[in-house]
Parts: sequence; structure tokens; C-alpha cells
Amino acid sequence: MATAPPLVGKLVYRFEEGDATQSELLGGKGSNLCEMAHLGLPVPPGFVITTQVCQSYFSSGQTLPEGLWESLRENIDLLESSLAREFGSSSNPLLVSVRSGAAVSMPGMMDTILNLGINDEIAEGLARLMDNPRAAYDAYRRFLQIYAGVVLEVPNDVFEPILGDAKTRAQVSQDHQLSPEQLRAIIEDYKEAIRRHSGRDVPEDPWTQLKEAVEAVFRSWNTPRAIHYRDYYGISQDLGTAVTVMSMVYGNLGDTSGTGVLFTRDPSSGKKEVLGEYLPNAQGEDVVAGGRTPRPLAELATSMPQVYRQLTAMAHQLENHYRDLQDIEFTVEEGRLFLLQTRNAKRTPMAAVKAAVDMAEEGLITRQEALLRIKPDELSQLLVPKFAEALDSAEAQDSLLARGAPASPGAASGIVCFDAEAAVAAALQGEAVILVRPETKPDDIHGITASVGVLTCRGGVTSHAAVVTRGMGIPCVVSCEEVWVDLEQGCLTANGKTVWAGEYISLDGGTGEVFHAAYKTELPELDEFEEGKTLLGWADRVKRLGVWANADTPQDATQALSLGAEGIGLCRTEHMFLDPERLPAVRQMLLNAPAAEEWRRDNSGAGMAPKDQDQLGELVRKSPVRKFYEALDQVRRFQTEDFTGILRVMGNRPVIIRLLDAPLHEFLPSQEELLAELEELRSKPGVSSGQIAEKEDLARLADSLREANPMLGHRGCRLGLSFPPIYQMQVEAIMTASVGLIKQGCPVQPEIMIPLIVDVEEMRRLRRDLTAVAEAVQQEAGVRVAYKFGTMIETPRAALTAGKIAEVADFFSFGTNDLTQLTFGFSRDDAEGKFLRSYIQEGILPADPFSTLDQEGVGDLIRHAIAAGREARPSLELGICGEHGGDGASVAFFHRMGLDYVSCSPYRVPAARLAAAQAALAESAETAD
Ligand code: PEP
Ligand code: MG
Repeated sequence: MATAPPLVGKLVYRFEEGDATQSELLGGKGSNLCEMAHLGLPVPPGFVITTQVCQSYFSSGQTLPEGLWESLRENIDLLESSLAREFGSSSNPLLVSVRSGAAVSMPGMMDTILNLGINDEIAEGLARLMDNPRAAYDAYRRFLQIYAGVVLEVPNDVFEPILGDAKTRAQVSQDHQLSPEQLRAIIEDYKEAIRRHSGRDVPEDPWTQLKEAVEAVFRSWNTPRAIHYRDYYGISQDLGTAVTVMSMVYGNLGDTSGTGVLFTRDPSSGKKEVLGEYLPNAQGEDVVAGGRTPRPLAELATSMPQVYRQLTAMAHQLENHYRDLQDIEFTVEEGRLFLLQTRNAKRTPMAAVKAAVDMAEEGLITRQEALLRIKPDELSQLLVPKFAEALDSAEAQDSLLARGAPASPGAASGIVCFDAEAAVAAALQGEAVILVRPETKPDDIHGITASVGVLTCRGGVTSHAAVVTRGMGIPCVVSCEEVWVDLEQGCLTANGKTVWAGEYISLDGGTGEVFHAAYKTELPELDEFEEGKTLLGWADRVKRLGVWANADTPQDATQALSLGAEGIGLCRTEHMFLDPERLPAVRQMLLNAPAAEEWRRDNSGAGMAPKDQDQLGELVRKSPVRKFYEALDQVRRFQTEDFTGILRVMGNRPVIIRLLDAPLHEFLPSQEELLAELEELRSKPGVSSGQIAEKEDLARLADSLREANPMLGHRGCRLGLSFPPIYQMQVEAIMTASVGLIKQGCPVQPEIMIPLIVDVEEMRRLRRDLTAVAEAVQQEAGVRVAYKFGTMIETPRAALTAGKIAEVADFFSFGTNDLTQLTFGFSRDDAEGKFLRSYIQEGILPADPFSTLDQEGVGDLIRHAIAAGREARPSLELGICGEHGGDGASVAFFHRMGLDYVSCSPYRVPAARLAAAQAALAESAETAD
């Protein structure tokens, strides 16, 4: 045989030689078998070929390394002597299983071959040895089928009709009811089918079988489903699989034999009860293949009470030993129990939390370990709907339509609607709706709130549409550029498939996957979830970082409070404008702002306050100036109302209200829509020239405010400096709300925040002018408000000049969405859909910097700004309010940077609390080392 150069180190480990710490080398399955052998548990003898051999197999062009063959022979010899059987002997045969098993568990994704070492002659011998010809031929039949499938790539459906026809002819329904003669005939038919499909026979020589099987199991590391699974779970493609060779034990020797699986606790709920399934008179793959319905494990307690007692005792021993929930495979051979595998069980997020808390309370693990066992993201998943079943099966993956960027976690399934009105109408009919749009705009907000999920072709995970859905807990996938929406035809196309309005799609806002099928979703039931509350209570006692929430309405604030938020770190006031009833006033305000400002400067300069509008002369009546001030007044009214609501809910907790930061394009009517409307008006009979002129005016104004790069344009404090009455109105609304509440005996802690500054001078001027407004309101009311005045640090220049800025700011809040956009120079609305995903797949960037903070670049700016800011003003309050505030790895970084708090959307608050606790625990572990 051609061999690759020798590898350094041992190629093969007997079970007695390895242990549970060696999963990287021996795979999870192999290392746990070693550990079980050490514990004296009944494991069939065997050995493990290391993952390094697999890596070498691929790196050397699919050849086995020198020395492997000799090691395999030696180890088979050892098996032979320990069992007093012989590999390849027809009188006393030893059969083995050849099993895949990587360091990370990938259930069912790779291949395993059972009953290897058999041929016609050996099958006869086995029949005699077992005194059970049926079981021997059954084992041979299974071997041929699996071997042909795995090694010779003969599809399974070649065998099903042969077996099915034989059963029909024999008038039986179960495999084990076939007679030895009938099985022999099936074996001959199988062999012929294999020859026909692969052009060759399954080798008779057991050693050739072994070699080909080991190689095929190595190759199964790279089956499309295994590659897809690793992509799905972010597992490295380079690890390779170990191969475990284990002597066969037989669950198909009659009624006192069987095979099954068990969990030491319920993997769905976490409840402490042994749960499992069992198939009498069967071999392992029967349980997995799903052809026969397994019986509940509890039945074993009646049919074989002693085996059941032994099994449950071993299950407890293993859970205690591993100090974690175990998933165990076992076989009973004529009343004798064997354990074939144990591993930490996969579990739902709910079960993960319950099991961790219960185990800590039982004293099996510490509270700290319980906190460290849960991934912060799992807590977020607990708060949003999820698919009732995992969609990683081949069938579900067939319905995969496209993949976009995961913008707001949770699963949704519903009929496709392509516009907001249709979504609202369908929702009123009781339909679950998924709103699909090329991109979302504020105009769509009523459609968004009526939908169970949102899908957009463009826009990034920090685009404002995504931010809105995240705040509302609506699952959302954005940047799905594979989807092309044809609004006129009312359909979408993606990867060659067409979906019409009204058809069902499902999406997973946690993974970005979109499916052309309806899948059942489940809502979380958290009211009674005591263990979740307990875990977060423990987290709060450990964490140092504050966890605040980004909330724009009193409802969001209430939600945030109930999820444990300690303050509001960002109230995006422009989100209050999204209501369709408010949007027209906001548009009027923005569209007419330039004209009003020109008039204000010409007439009375900075002295003209909004309420002076009554003094406006006849000249400006019905003019843009009047329209501006009327709109401003309307906006002031609803803002005062909203601020009052939020401040009341939050009481004596801090509430940071950011002044207007509207990238104008998000609030202006689209040019195409305006032109279409204009055309329609012009062609309609009976429309007055005045109406047409008004629309033309609107189109002209909208056009004059349009920018080539709105995200880099007239945004944030630049808007505030260009049109002072807008920020003045907002500060007046904040202070009016505050003094009103204080008069009612309700404490408030407003903090006024200026967005997007690049220079201290912007801050200095705005602080000066806006403080005058705040003072005036307090004076008039005769009430003092303890408020702060601070800024976002979200441009690289602001971060670099933070020392100066801190001189005029009481607090900094890092806006990591814009800071990432501007540091990378990547548009946050476009990068994900255009190139970022391939950047990550190809390893150019390690992760999406809009989801998890780029610690090296953006993080360095933050580090600098913190140091400079604190030096200039030691009392500076420091926090972060970009979307990174809910991401575990980023939270750990912010903890290390010594921030006071992180602020994230309400549904991510629990995840951030846990991540903050984990960061504190990691720090104390480091100091203890
Ligand atoms: C930010 O830029 O991080 C931020 C919070 O502001 P927005 O997302 O509203 O631009
Ligand atoms: Mg920003």
C-alpha cells in the first residue's frame, strides 16, 4: 500500500491508553470510550486512530501514513487475545465496528461501518458461534449495505426495494422476522446490486475491508452534509476525524438483546429524569434509521429489570463523573450490558439553563461553573420564537432558499407580503406574515409591526431597519442579496426558485437562513422559568459592568426593565418619528428646515425661538417657514409625551436621550415614488394646478436634501448645528417632561446626548446653546433637574481627540455601529450583502465587525478614548450603545476596558448580563493564576 511519510507521535491508542482529556486527538467518542474503560465500565475492547492520521491522510493526497498498518495489525492482535477470537477466522470470528468521531460532536454527519470482518465463509462460522444463523446473516446483510454505501458509494435506496420485496414475499413486516434462508437470498441480491452499481464486489478479505473502511471514514469528514454542518456551527474544517475500531457486540441475538440511547436528564426541558429509547433485538443503526419505532426506556425496567438498574446506575455514575448531562449509547447482548458511547448531550437553551442551575443547587458543579456553561446567545434565543424542530436535516436544507445576514434573532414562518399595506391587511385576517422588501424604510414600520418576520435584500445588521426589528424582538434577516424582489409581478426569486406573494417562507434571524417552506415555530414560555431568573440573579451578583438597554418608547423601556436593564443607554429619538401618523410632521419639519433657517438668520438671527411663530409676519404665512414651525410644534408635543412616558417608567435610573440623528434619506419620501405620484396627478382629470405645484415643491425640496452618501452626510450634530430650532425643541421637550414628572414627585435622571461629533467645538457650541434652553425651562417651572450633558464617540476623530472633548462632556457613549463603519470605511447598510460574508468565509476577516467588535482596530480607538477621556475628566461616565453591547465577546472586551455599562436592545439584556458576569469571572480566574 502507498504510504505517506511517518507522523510524529502515536498513531493508535488502545482504550486503556487514552482518557477524556484527549478529545482533540482521539475525538469525543474515542476519548470518552477510553475514559469509560478506565472507570471500569463495560466497554467492548477497542482502539482509536488519531485525528492527526486523518489530517495527514488529506494533506498527503489521501494516503495513510507509514506505520499505521503495522499498528492496526498489532492492535487487532491485542483485541483477538483479549476476546479469544480471531479477525478473519471462520471458526471463531472477531467482527469490529469502524466509527467516525471528531473532537466536536457532529451527530450523524459522518460514517460508521458495523460488522466488519465478515464474508460468506465467516458468516457461516458466526452463525455457528452465535448459535443463531438469522442474527449472523442479518449482520452480514447490514455490513454489505453499509460498506457498499460508505466505501463504494452505492446509494441506500438500491437496497431498500430488495429488502422490502423480500419482506412482502415472506409476508412479514419486521427485518428480524426473516428466516436465515430468506436473508441468504437477500445477501445474494445485495451483492449483485453492488456489482451493478459500483462495478466491483465488497472485498472478501477482512484486512482489505478494514483498510478501505478506515479511509472511507476519514473521507466522510468531507461529505457535503458534514461540511455544511461545520459551516452552520462555525466548526473548523481542518480538525479531521478520529476512527474508533471496536469489537462488535450484538443487540440482535433475540429478545434478551437490544440496543438504545439514553439521556441522564431530559435534553429538551432539562428535567432531572433518565430519558431514553430502546429497540429489542436490533443493532445500532436501527434506532438511528427510524425504520422501527423504539420503545421508551422505561419498558426495559419490566423486560430486563436487572439490566435497567445497572444501566441507570451507570448513567448516574457517568453524569457525576463528567459533571454534565450525558447522552449514552448502549447494547445488551443476551442480557449483558455494554456501553458504546457517552458524550455531553446536546440540549435546548432551556434545558441548558435548567440543568446548569439544578446541578449547581445539587452541589455537582459550582454556581460559577453554571454561569460559565451557558452561552450568552442561548439566553437571547430563549426570549424569541424558535423552530419546533432543528432545521439541519437534509430535507430541511433542501428547502433552503437563500442566506442573508442574521439581524434579529428568532424563527418566523408566514406568508410572503411585498408591501407594508398588504402585510397589515393579511395580519388583520389572522395570517402570520413575513414582510419581504428590497430594503426597509420608516414608511414600512406599520408593516414591520404587523409581521412575524422581516426579510430585506439590502441593509446591514446595524442598518436602522435591523435595529428597529431587534428592538421589537421581531426576527429579521437583512442583506439577502441572493433574493431578488419583483414588486410589480409580486414575487421573489432566489437561486433559481420563485416564491409568489401568499406562499409560505420561514426564516431564522439567528442564522440568516431563509426557507421556502412553512415550519412550525414555538414561543418561549418564560413566566415560570425560575432557573433562568436564578441564573441571572447569580450573574448580577458577579458582574461589574452595568447593563442598560436601547429603548425608544415607554413600552420598550418597560420590557427592558422586566429583563433586568439598569438604565436606558440610548433612546433614538428619531425612532419616535416612525409612526405613520407622525411621519408627515417630521417630513415637513426636515423638508422646510433649510428655508426656515434662511429666514431666521435674515430676520432675527439666533434669537428667534420656535414659540415666536405668532410673530411671523404675513409674508411668511403658508410659506415653508410657517410649515416648519407648525411641524416643529407638533413634533415637540409628541416628543414631550414620549419622554414623559419613558422617564416615568425608568424613575431614578439614568435615561440617555440622543438628539436627532436622522440620516435624511431614511425620512424623506423616495424620489421614484414622488415622480410616479406626480405623473399620476398630472394625468388625472380634475386635479388643480395648485395640487400639482405642491407636489412639485415637495419633489424639489426632497431633491435638494438628497445626498450621495447620506450616512456620511448631513447627519447628527451637523443637522443640529445647521438647524438650531430642532435640537432646541428636543431639549425643551426633555426638560418639560422632566420638570413635569418632578412636580408629580417622580424622580428622573435624564442625560442629553449629542450624536456624531467630530470636534470639541461642535460640542462646546451645542452645550452652550442647549444649556440656555434647559435653564430657561427649569427657571420657568421653578424646578431643578439633575441632568447630564454628553456625547457619543462614534467617529474616529472624536475618539482620537477624546481628551479635549471630555472637557465639555459629562459622559461618553461609544456608538460602535458608526465607529465600525467609519473606521473600516465600510457602509453599514451595504457591506454585509456585498462582500463581508465572503471576507469572513475566506478568512480575510475573522468575524463580522458589525456584530462582534473589531478589538484590534475599533477597540484600539476605544481604548485610547477611554484613557484620554478619563484623564481629562476622572468622573466621566463611560458606556457603549452600539449593537455590540449584546454580543458576548464584545461585552468581555468592554469589561476589560473598564466601561461603566453596556447598552443593548431589550431582548439581549439577559445575554449581556450573563456575558458581563462571565467576563468578571474570567478576570478573577486570571488574577488568581
Ligand atoms: C452607533 O452608531 O453605534 C449608534 C448607536 O447609533 P446609530 O446606530 O443610531 O447610528
Ligand atoms: Mg450612530
